[in-house]
Amino acid sequence: MEVKDNSRVAELEKENESLRRALEAAEEANQAKSRFLSNMSHDIRTPMNAIMGMTSIGLSHIDEKARVQDCLDKIRTASAHLMSLVNDVLDMSRIDSGRMTLNEERFSLADLVHDLAVIVRPQAVLKKHSLRFEIEDILEESLVGDPLRLRQILVNIIGNAVKYTPDGGHIRVHFSQRPAAGGLVLLDFVCEDDGIGMSQAFLDRIFVPFERVRSAAVNHIEGTGLGMAIVKNLVDSMCGKIHVESREGAGSRFTVSLPLPVSPGEPAPVPEGAPVLVAESQDARAEQMMHCLRERGLRPVRLTAGLEAVTYLTEAQYEERMPCAMLLGQELSDMPILDVAAHVRQLTGREFPILLVSEEDWAQIEYRAVRAGVSAFVPCPLFASRLLGELSRLTCGQSEGGAGNGSREEDYSGRRVLLVEDNELNLEIASELLGMTGVQVDTAENGQEAVARFSAAPENYYDLIFMDIQMPVMDGCEAARRIRALDRPDAKSVWIVAMTANAFVEDMRASKEAGMNEHVSKPVDLERLQDVLRRRLA
Ligand code: ADP
Repeated sequence: MEVKDNSRVAELEKENESLRRALEAAEEANQAKSRFLSNMSHDIRTPMNAIMGMTSIGLSHIDEKARVQDCLDKIRTASAHLMSLVNDVLDMSRIDSGRMTLNEERFSLADLVHDLAVIVRPQAVLKKHSLRFEIEDILEESLVGDPLRLRQILVNIIGNAVKYTPDGGHIRVHFSQRPAAGGLVLLDFVCEDDGIGMSQAFLDRIFVPFERVRSAAVNHIEGTGLGMAIVKNLVDSMCGKIHVESREGAGSRFTVSLPLPVSPGEPAPVPEGAPVLVAESQDARAEQMMHCLRERGLRPVRLTAGLEAVTYLTEAQYEERMPCAMLLGQELSDMPILDVAAHVRQLTGREFPILLVSEEDWAQIEYRAVRAGVSAFVPCPLFASRLLGELSRLTCGQSEGGAGNGSREEDYSGRRVLLVEDNELNLEIASELLGMTGVQVDTAENGQEAVARFSAAPENYYDLIFMDIQMPVMDGCEAARRIRALDRPDAKSVWIVAMTANAFVEDMRASKEAGMNEHVSKPVDLERLQDVLRRRLA
């Protein structure tokens, strides 16, 4: 009898213990949520305050152009911050409810790394950090995965390194690959900083939603404590691994490994066997360029000084054995790089391809480089696909002249788009942005009206339809389906672009299934619209 009582008591104690633990966990979760709500309220108010305040200041100085411009710049920055906050919260709620899905598409590692650099560099420059991107042992540049989500993981980690490192710090970002079974590669990403670091106790909680180090230094830095939780979830759903090492005051090191399928594409054609002049004084950088060239059967000829290069080309021209192109690196032993470019351009005439392979920010040097005669820019860290792609374009393809990467202003006068949007303010914004490109904009307030307008218009009247999704009377997906089903040739060919606040992968999938060609998320920006117009109309 006593034995039975004892075991019952033990059972009850065990139950009590697990109930107590569940209660503690619920209380902890509750506290984290309350902390989050109070943080969010503060974090949302801060940019909102800037937007409202700057709008009032701008309005009261409406005739002072510089002042209004300054207010608008600040409003734009604050809105972008607010947008990223909203995106984080939405992502988190998606993850919580298990509705996060990943896209699978082919992407270029080179584009991913260069996009990253463009996104994080401005903030690093502002904080006077040295930010280095390095690549090593890259086996495959063409991969399959969700490039947007990958970028989100990496931007979050590098963004934190920039944020949580006091001014003048050092951040190193390193990419490498290892072969893995089943046609996969393991992409290894390391981000190291010498910033404020974290304690071991905090490292145990770093991936818990809403958790932030509670210290005066961190309190001053904007954040919600959601970034790392999102990163961890994304890495897990990509079957990857993430590891963090850190010490307070001694910096942090994040390591992410992701298995990704490879998808080798057709390599761009290059004039195999042809010599290519490589002008660079630093051995490692020159070797990288020469390695890419040799891999594709080209013959690098390396020189370390500008004068040497000019002499070489003078003789080669005379003896009619010109290399097919010249790669100008980061530095030469005797002359500034762009001076050499100018000499070579003068010597060789307009057509000779001069490629600048450089760590410099292209936006900063574009004007001087193009004037000096540089034909194309290849950013560092150096990816073979980028270098050989440009080389192919200039030596084998239809050369467009002038350096690449430049954004040209297009004029689309005479082209017509149908803009379908039920919200008056959104309609005004989108019409105005589209109008700035010169296209004629017709509007419809819902899907039914859009179908009627398209049906009534002559064949091929509209080049493009921008379609909101959620609308009264008839939604965008239904309208797209009905347009596609119309019995006229342009019903199949007209481009329909979803323009909507439903920014998730499933929404993109739904609009694709309804027959739409592209998806532009709101808030729309001019650049994104121009990009769509350029690809469709230019
Ligand atoms: P937050 O929006 O606060 O930046 P995260 O989820 O991205 O949220 O990060 C959680 C917390 O982890 C941060 O608030 C910060 O305390 C700490 N942390 C993350 N990355 C670093 C880093 N590189 N150095 C120091 N602390 C970091």
